[in-house]
Amino acid sequence: MADRNAAEYHMKHGPSSESATPTVTGFSPGFAALGLEAPLLATLETLGYEEPTPIQREAIPPLLAGRDLLGQAATGTGKTAAFALPMLQLISHVVRIRPSALVLVPTRELAIQVGEAVQRYGKELRVSVLPVYGGQAIGPQLHALKRGVDVVVATPGRALDHIRRGTLKLQEVRIVVLDEADEMLDMGFADDLEAILAETPKVKQTALFSATIPPRIRAIAHRHLQNPIEITIAKEPVKAGTAPRVQQTAYIVARPHRAAALARVVEVAGANSSLVFCRTRLEVDEVTAMLAGRGHRAEAIHGGMSQGQRDRVMQAFKAGQTELLVATDVAARGLDIPQVSHVINYDLPSSAEVYVHRIGRTGRAGREGAAITILDPREQRLLRTIEQHTKARVTVMPIPSVADLRAKQLDRVQAAVEQVLRDGQVDAFKPLVERLSAHPPAEVAAAALKLLVRAQGGERLEQEIPAVPVRQPEFGRLIRDARHSSGLAHRSSGPDRPPTGRSRQGGRTVEMARVYVGVGRAAGIRPGDLVGAIANEARVNSSLIGAIEIEDRFSIVDVPASMASDIIKTLGRARIKGRTVSVRLFRE
Ligand code: AMP
Repeated sequence: MADRNAAEYHMKHGPSSESATPTVTGFSPGFAALGLEAPLLATLETLGYEEPTPIQREAIPPLLAGRDLLGQAATGTGKTAAFALPMLQLISHVVRIRPSALVLVPTRELAIQVGEAVQRYGKELRVSVLPVYGGQAIGPQLHALKRGVDVVVATPGRALDHIRRGTLKLQEVRIVVLDEADEMLDMGFADDLEAILAETPKVKQTALFSATIPPRIRAIAHRHLQNPIEITIAKEPVKAGTAPRVQQTAYIVARPHRAAALARVVEVAGANSSLVFCRTRLEVDEVTAMLAGRGHRAEAIHGGMSQGQRDRVMQAFKAGQTELLVATDVAARGLDIPQVSHVINYDLPSSAEVYVHRIGRTGRAGREGAAITILDPREQRLLRTIEQHTKARVTVMPIPSVADLRAKQLDRVQAAVEQVLRDGQVDAFKPLVERLSAHPPAEVAAAALKLLVRAQGGERLEQEIPAVPVRQPEFGRLIRDARHSSGLAHRSSGPDRPPTGRSRQGGRTVEMARVYVGVGRAAGIRPGDLVGAIANEARVNSSLIGAIEIEDRFSIVDVPASMASDIIKTLGRARIKGRTVSVRLFRE
């Protein structure tokens, strides 16, 4: 397991030195060298991508050359662009018989996310994209398919549904991508995949991406890929001693709350001399504006700036005039950056080496350092890989609450006042206290403190940031074990799974509920069918689903209690293995 995780994240080529010099303006030579043409390069420039990630560097040239590909890469490595960019370029060159490309993904979230990404990358090429997934009204999908789209991004169940209705015709498809293939199999889509692929022409280009390559993925690759290029993944560990000793913390937060989480973390950590890393120029600019808007002295540095601008920013940072330097990897590379109190990863970098390089900016020369990473729930598996690389634990912490923030602000005010009291030299203000002597001294002091907190932004209205339960690898195993032993009862008795209906997720206890689903072994139900139905129909991340018990005529699925009623409602209306089933809370 350890090796496998390392492999997922540790691409053969680490950060390339060839593009170490940031481009000041114009297209990134990194992407152009891969064979991408002007319209896509222009889009990447607008998106602020400064250089290809390792998987992009490896996958784009062979895909452009028309090769089949078997790629091992997890979410967060930039794999979507790795297949979408060549796919878009290739279909832009042919007479388009629609759809020209099909991307299969395991969940509706991913269908939406990948659909948006393909749309974004294909903007200049005027390629039309349609996400197709379960749980969404079929009418608009039918219309769009009838009008014709170039790229369909679909979950297997819904794709098959459309194929059977005759509304999705794949006879002219030139490119097929299987994204997160291992997850599709885990969700019980193996038969659907085969049925869909059988509808596609024999001569086509196929790319398969998977975070892991177990034998059953290899078997699919063997059946459907022709002479594929394999993205080779080295397993070399980072040399001993290269990982600095810093305290590493991660916060897992859903995408829409990432900026708020960054602000919260910066403010609670008191990150006063910090480097904040982003993946793109665009993000650097957005994050800098957001932090500056909250009263922080933040400055951006990226490859889109002139040398003069970058020099000025660096001088201000070294002089301590800037608290937060917000940078891309390319811009930070080769810079003489002084020791900083915190390195904050607003985005997880695309390889473990880059992570180690980033956090090497703190904790130098025996000083204390802290590395903070803000992580998308889908990127959690990369965390374990980073632990292996840094040979140190990354502690996943709950996002500080508004109360935590307020408490920290008061602590800081107290410390500042005590410092002033120690230093003395407050005589100039004593006459003012005299003038306020009509009020009790404690009231006057409290009012002065209130003004101080307000001046520091401490009275700003703050919202709580919703917690995301942490992925439970045990859950995944439970489900897989269940399938291998043909659906016998599976209840976990391990330490992570107390019998109280609670589950430990990332140091938090999540209340679980047991949901009865009126279909079982007799109907050929497998755990993957239930996971697939809940994930796709009820829009629940599959990692949140707990133990699954399959009996002859019914099944029981553990789900977070807070989601149980929604899941019951949605699943009650959905079809599982082609039939509607009764769904309710399970009572012993
Ligand atoms: P993925 O692994 O495809 O989910 O991509 C993860 C994130 O990386 C997405 O937010 C992309 O927009 C971003 N990304 C992909 N390629 C690059 C790149 N070359 N430079 C900067 N950001 C990238």
